[in-house]
Amino acid sequence: MQDLTHEILELIRLTSTDLPADVELRLKQALTEEEPGSAASEALETILKNVELSRLNSTPICQDTGTPIFYVHYPEGWSTRQLKSQIRAALAEATKRSFMRPNAVDAIYDKNSGNNLGGEDFPSIHFEEVDKDQPLTIQLILKGGGCENVGAQYSMPYNPLGAGRDLRGVRKVVLDAVYKAQGQGCAPGILGVAIGGDRGSSYIKSKEVLFEKMGTRNPDPNVTSLEERLTREANQLGIGPMGFGGKTTVLETKITGLHRLPASYFVSISYMCWAYRRRKMIVNGNQVSYE
Ligand code: SF4
Repeated sequence: MQDLTHEILELIRLTSTDLPADVELRLKQALTEEEPGSAASEALETILKNVELSRLNSTPICQDTGTPIFYVHYPEGWSTRQLKSQIRAALAEATKRSFMRPNAVDAIYDKNSGNNLGGEDFPSIHFEEVDKDQPLTIQLILKGGGCENVGAQYSMPYNPLGAGRDLRGVRKVVLDAVYKAQGQGCAPGILGVAIGGDRGSSYIKSKEVLFEKMGTRNPDPNVTSLEERLTREANQLGIGPMGFGGKTTVLETKITGLHRLPASYFVSISYMCWAYRRRKMIVNGNQVSYE
């Protein structure tokens, strides 16, 4: 089996030190929508300058390089054990080269491992087998801690808001989560929302939708219209970039649905900060590309 450690290291470097073009473009659009000279406009200008400098100098976009979450789609014949060990080796090397801050802290003994590796669960790696003729792909998201802290899960019905088990109820709790987050999730955010599942699968799905490009909509028109409505209404809350007020609180909302038990109805919201670090590596024989 190919050793991809070096290529995975490049995936991590790219993810940490540059934003995907679609995200940067959306931030630039947001800047044109804010009042020139306003705190919101200055916050977006600072963010965009920071992105440019990080790209030029190959330094992390944010001091918090986040939780590394990998999704690996591998054709039959690849060893997941070897892929996992290559990902872990690449991450330790990326930490040594300061593309990543050491972020893995043992929660029981409060000790930082120093290399971003912790037990079997840090980094988080998900494997999925695909058809033999498909390329191997490795996707990575670096999920910041501040925005993770303002994520939320609601068990419906949620009586404090009179939110029931339907899309109207979902709208109420998602807006509630954005309102409670204020600027603490490093707005403007991208909302990953999962409806249904159990508590665990619901949160996992709310992060999986964040791997989709900006502008990717749920194919169900009822859900699409809720996605668009939520983005529009969140932007009327006046929270703005980094909580300084303004028109841009949320860049996009992505919703997915899961089957659920009749007894449970969860709505999980993963808030992704403006540092929407998301990359994909594609391996086709000896050719490796990144997007
Ligand atoms: S939430 Fe995002 S932008 Fe804010 S400090 Fe964390 S990684 Fe950086």
